[in-house]
Amino acid sequence: MSEVTIAFLGATDTVTGSRFLISSGQSKILVDCGLFQGVKSVQKRNWDPFPVNAKEIDAVVLSHAHLDHSGYLPLLVKEGFHKEIYGTRYTNDITKIILRDSARLQMDDAKFAAKRGYSEHKNPQPLYNQDDAEKAIDHLRERAFRTRHQIAPDAFVTFYPSGHILGSSFVAVEVAGKSFLFTSDLGRNNHPLLSNPDLPPAQDFDVVITESTYGDRIHDTTPDAFAQEINDGIARGGAILIPAFAVDRTEVILMALKDLIEKKLIPEIPVYVDSPMALSALNLYREAITARSEEIRAGISDKYANQDPFDAGQLHQMQTTEESKSINDIDSAAIIISASGMATGGRVVHHLANMLPNPKNTVILVGYQAVGSRGRTLEDGAKTIKIHGQELYVNAHIAKVESFSVHADSDELITWLGNARKPKKAYVVHGEPEGQLTMKNRMEAELGWDVVIPKSNQVFEV
Ligand SMILES: [Zn+2]
Repeated sequence: MSEVTIAFLGATDTVTGSRFLISSGQSKILVDCGLFQGVKSVQKRNWDPFPVNAKEIDAVVLSHAHLDHSGYLPLLVKEGFHKEIYGTRYTNDITKIILRDSARLQMDDAKFAAKRGYSEHKNPQPLYNQDDAEKAIDHLRERAFRTRHQIAPDAFVTFYPSGHILGSSFVAVEVAGKSFLFTSDLGRNNHPLLSNPDLPPAQDFDVVITESTYGDRIHDTTPDAFAQEINDGIARGGAILIPAFAVDRTEVILMALKDLIEKKLIPEIPVYVDSPMALSALNLYREAITARSEEIRAGISDKYANQDPFDAGQLHQMQTTEESKSINDIDSAAIIISASGMATGGRVVHHLANMLPNPKNTVILVGYQAVGSRGRTLEDGAKTIKIHGQELYVNAHIAKVESFSVHADSDELITWLGNARKPKKAYVVHGEPEGQLTMKNRMEAELGWDVVIPKSNQVFEV
């Protein structure tokens, strides 16, 4: 008899730290291996020992490259994982960029904390270093979309395009005859570059695991709001800072700006992309467009055959720290796009420290801001904010534009799930409590499914 279980090792009561372990008598398959991000108490969980022996895991399946799905890989390898990590072509390419950047950021943060002496620790250490990231990268193996691949004696995986970021997939996993469908982060049908998410495969699943990031929200799509905020920002006479996730959001924002400038809804002003990671990702997107990747929306490769989809005329790509610092001196209208998207780290934090005290400046939040992040603090209207151990006044204008989300909202998730056959059991993860509960209620009422919200480290027999 082979008993199959699923353990929820992360992303249970939070949107971060996605890690799900499927075990049979014969093998252990880990689906995603993400970092916890956000409030300190959540981040601290990254330092907890991994709940299962990493040496015993037979394969990792990577749904997409985002840090909250891939960022724990260097630690898993450090703890003895020695097998293969499976992802699609661009998931692997972007994961390399993200893990290298993550290692560098953590080493920088540890150094900075030591210098300023504001850490609780005498000698702050990074979670992992460049070496650990490179070792994890060595384990990445590329697998094609829409093909069933064997990953262990009794385990198979199929990746399907999910339209969330380049390379992203929702994933069907079979272990010892039991079948699982992970939505991971599901995209929408309006991405300017990526094809729509595939429909769920027409087959029976024992278990469906769905995200619920926007489980209790409906996106209102008002592209005008973005143009309005930019024009207001220009009128205020200062600079406009857009914290944006380096991968995908930066691309979507740049295309929206190009579109608004071409339609003369905003004036042509300089646009600075200030994130080395975002610049590397931009090149991968350009490559995918030129290569006519199956992930790119029909017509896009032709449309941008002879022009850069991301340059509206005055695009500045800031690679070096010196270039980044030169932005501090800009005193005319300009847009600065910098990472990280929730202002938890990266160059954007320095720009916030520089810009927030001046009421002429504008900060436009364009993505999901997790509880406890600096982005969320700003979104919630804080009058002061702590950056690098210093309390700063928030005098700049703070705006929120939601139409750029690359996550399906509540209605979109229900519609997508409604195209799948009814599973024996469904689990709602990757959301905050209200989002999870709304999704559970809707799935029960509208789809007639049997739905559970798992708790951290809970294990279920399948
Ligand atoms: Zn994601």
